[in-house]
Parts: sequence; C-alpha cells; structure tokens
Amino acid sequence: MSDVKNLIFDKIKEYDSIVIGRHFRPDGDAVGSTMGLGRIISLTYPEKKVYLSNKDKSEYMSFLGDTSELVDEEIIKNSLVIIIDTATEDRVSDERILKGKEVIKIDHHIEVAPYGDISWVEDWRSSASEMIASFYETFSSSFKIDTLAATMIYTGMVTDSGRFRFSSTSPETLRLAGIMVGKGVNIERLQANLDLNDYNFYKYQADVFSKIEMTENGVAWLYVDNEMQKKWNLTKEDASESVGFMSGIKGSICWIAFIDNSDGTIRVRLRSRFMTVNKIAEKYHGGGHDRASGATCYSKEEMEALIKDADLETKRFKESGEYWI
Ligand code: AMP
Repeated sequence: MSDVKNLIFDKIKEYDSIVIGRHFRPDGDAVGSTMGLGRIISLTYPEKKVYLSNKDKSEYMSFLGDTSELVDEEIIKNSLVIIIDTATEDRVSDERILKGKEVIKIDHHIEVAPYGDISWVEDWRSSASEMIASFYETFSSSFKIDTLAATMIYTGMVTDSGRFRFSSTSPETLRLAGIMVGKGVNIERLQANLDLNDYNFYKYQADVFSKIEMTENGVAWLYVDNEMQKKWNLTKEDASESVGFMSGIKGSICWIAFIDNSDGTIRVRLRSRFMTVNKIAEKYHGGGHDRASGATCYSKEEMEALIKDADLETKRFKESGEYWI
C-alpha cells in the first residue's frame, strides 16, 4: 500500500501545477480532505501552483474558507489532478479536471468504477480525510503542516465518522485524529462551527420530528417535500440534514430521508446500525457505504418501493440472529 503512496508523493514533487477536486454536493470530508491536502502541498512547496477546482461549495463548511474556483482548461491539461472522496467520474464536481495530464484518485468508498492513472482506494477507512492524515504521516519528514491544514483534515475525519461514533472508526482513525489535534486544532471552536444551529432550524426540527413515519419492521423514514422546505426557508443542504434526526430511535436500525429536489427527482439518504444498506441504494440508482448510502428516486412510486425493500431487508436482518437493539 505504501507503494501507491510513494507514487503519489513522487507525482506531487514532479508537477509545478496541481489541481485538486472532489465530488459535487460536498460534505465535510470532501471539503476537509481536498483543502487539507492542498494546504499541505502549498506550505511544503510554496513555488508550486495549487488550485481547488469545483463547481459547487458547502455552506456548512464555509468556516474553513473554501477558495474553490474554476481553473482554466489550459492549466488543467498541464496539471497533475488529484480527486479525493469521489467514487466515480460522474460524481466529480468539475468534470473538466478529468482531462488533467495525469489523474490521481484517492478515495474510501467501495470501488465500483475505477478511474485515473493512479488509484489509492482504501474502503475500510472512515473518511478520505483519514487517508490524507495517513499520507501526511508517512511523509511527515518532508511535509509541512499548520493548525489550519490539520483543522481541515480533522474536520473531515470528525464529520464522516459521525463524531467518531460510526463503526468505521478504528484505532487507526483515532490515532491519526490525535496527530491532527496535536497540531493545535481548537476543538471547542470546531464543535461550535459544526454543531450549532439557528433557532429557526430547531423549530423546523420539531416540525420534522412529528412527521417521521415507521414501517412494520422498524424503518424510520421522512419525506421533506417542497412545501416543508419553503415553510422553513430551507436550503437543500438544510433539508438533507434531516436524516440525522432519526438516528436515535430504539428498534429502528435503518432510517431514510427523502428530499424533494424540485426537479422531479427525490434525493434519498439511507443510514443504518448493525445492518448494511448499500445494496438497497444500488437498486435505486445509488450506492455508498455499508451504513451510509445515497440514491435517487424518480417518482413517489419508486420511493414507496424503496421503503418496502428497506423494510424487508430490516426484517431479514432482525430474523438472522445478528445482534441489534
Ligand atoms: P449521502 O446520504 O448523500 O451523504 O450519501 C452517503 C454516502 O453514499 C456518501 O458517501 C456518498 O458518496 C454515497 N452516495 C450518495 N449518493 C450516491 C450515488 N448516487 N451513487 C453512489 N454513491 C452515492
């Protein structure tokens, strides 16, 4: 495995111009891993040009100071491109960067459709940011890091592991997180940026709680329709957060948020404890991790079918004799 890390390190040393990208609708991990690696490269090699080229940003992550801009195609063609946290080419935020001189993929999602000239995929990692922390550690005698770069990487680790509560959290995750914290991360400030919500959001939350439905076998689900989004003046990102509201219900080991995309499609966010959900997501034009996946429904009928499938899968799991609560 360190062979591929060495290969990536050599490429970073070789190129004067490096473009870094991530998936569209970026989350904390996509933002933290790309910004963190970009900053490490800039600090270590001030003479190199490092760009973040993405078509969209995350409002939630704006406290990290995302500097993404669209880089000229001419620059892309002559650059090393590093795409992080993005399983497939069609999920790249700025698809133009796939035309880079050489493309490196760094990811922790299950490999479905490989791309790039060099690919470093470790699907057992809790986050792509954890991989960047590991990459930093491997070459720490060469790399420079500062508190901001460490905060970016730590933010990705903290968010994608559900505050280190998901089963993907390993001793290695915590060890590497410790190295980042050791660079001076202000935990209190970070927690405030990540976890505080507007008063309006609390009122919305109360409304949402009353609308959570439960299937016979314990699938909690919720549909955040356009009316609800308008009523509470929600961004799509706010509306998507609702999946987290259902994470603490005893007996419900699978929970799903459906968010009306206002374009005839419905975004699906699946989460689980003990059981896996990525197979369900794959059936509905999606995919993802064992316990956190995403999909798309193209009609209400498809949404109902997905709920039925999830209910059946939950029933099967509960009857399998595996531990659950
Ligand atoms: P989300 O609920 O959108 O945060 O998705 C959870 C996980 O599933 C993320 O790690 C995504 O990368 C992955 N995922 C979401 N949507 C899709 C999709 N359409 N195809 C493949 N993977 C997806």
